[in-house]
Amino acid sequence: MSNKQLKFQPVIGLEIHVELKTKAKMFCRCSADHFHTPPNTNICPVCLGLPGAMPYPNLKALEKTLLIAHLLHCRINRISRFERKHYFYPDLPKGYQLTQYLYPMGYQGYLEVEGKRFFIRRVHQEEDTAKLKHQRLKSRLVSLVDFNRSGVPLVEMVTEPVFDNSQDVVAFLKKLQRLLRFYEVSSCDMEKGSMRLEANISLRPEGSKELPDYKVELKNINSFRFLAEAIDYEIKRQTQLLSQGKEVTQETRGYNSVKKFTFSQRVKEEAQDYHYLLEPDIPPVYLSDEVVEKVRKTPDYSQLIGKWIKLGWPKTVVNNLLIRQGQLEWWQELETTVQEEGLDRHKLGHFLLKNKGSYYLKDISKLIARFKEDEKIINNVDQLVKVVKEVVANNPKAVADYQKGKESAIYFLLGQVRYRLGKVNVQTTLQQLRDVLTDEKSKK
Ligand SMILES: [Zn+2]
Repeated sequence: MSNKQLKFQPVIGLEIHVELKTKAKMFCRCSADHFHTPPNTNICPVCLGLPGAMPYPNLKALEKTLLIAHLLHCRINRISRFERKHYFYPDLPKGYQLTQYLYPMGYQGYLEVEGKRFFIRRVHQEEDTAKLKHQRLKSRLVSLVDFNRSGVPLVEMVTEPVFDNSQDVVAFLKKLQRLLRFYEVSSCDMEKGSMRLEANISLRPEGSKELPDYKVELKNINSFRFLAEAIDYEIKRQTQLLSQGKEVTQETRGYNSVKKFTFSQRVKEEAQDYHYLLEPDIPPVYLSDEVVEKVRKTPDYSQLIGKWIKLGWPKTVVNNLLIRQGQLEWWQELETTVQEEGLDRHKLGHFLLKNKGSYYLKDISKLIARFKEDEKIINNVDQLVKVVKEVVANNPKAVADYQKGKESAIYFLLGQVRYRLGKVNVQTTLQQLRDVLTDEKSKK
């Protein structure tokens, strides 16, 4: 039967991995900084997965994972355990990855974006794998392994299949990124791979409540825009197949961002069996009341941000500049100065935005001095334009002479401006006069 008459509705779920911003790795004390170090220098028996090495969890990382679960309004498992997820790949020397399978730290949460609630299935702690680099060495193609990344704390967040379009997906991810950056739990840098995105996408007949019996996984996409493009492409591709009465293959697909299409990477015949096994060397993690209470007291993001907007700071300024909780003290100090000196938050905000790199978060008194100087110049120009217009309006004869080609008439008008304002910049004033006179002429 042809499905041509049927309309389809996308069903999209996300899996997001972020690396946590911690000093040490997840189960050893090696530095977690794998971006600025020569390959294979931050390593030890634990993160190399040598037999007999004893892992011990990083409490700071667990606290950050708990914070993510809290920010995503999750229910919290007070007792969680680590399990071994078995699979073989050269970036995983142990042959298994430590993760939380049965008892994720957070579950049944949600994130609200522009009034819509998107449900979150789980938030759990795990460890990153080593990094593979495929390159040519002495004319041979080789794969190099850098273990600096092996064991870096990683958090996986899984949403329910709640999205039906790419715009919502991107809005959700942007909000998530802002949130995680604000509380400094992760740098969420997609180019560097500290935030990684996967989307599951399938289609069902419009109106159906059942989940489709297949899904296509989009992997290895490192920008919001490309993910949106890949999702849109998949919606079209799958709609076409289903409309022709064909089946969509369950598989993993990548995205070619230059030629703008998705392509098959791996066909999954059946669900992979990871043979999860309780990690015998790490006792269950029990979250004390104290730890949970501390995290629950974290000030709410929308309230924190909303406060500045209510005070009269422009929304774009707040959204673009107040990006880390650690900056709040600086902002408080700025607000005090603004109140004391009766400054215009709108103008000052846009001045900050314009000079983002050079003044932001620096000495507030220097910043204010520069702002006032800038304002003075703007005010002077505003005043000059006003007077020039008045002079032009009040001296029709000189204006007419100038329009007829008598260049020198402009100097009479310059004299009039000088008479009104005292000292003026001759070049700027002449330029303003010419602009206004050209305007006048074009009006006629
Ligand atoms: Zn180590």
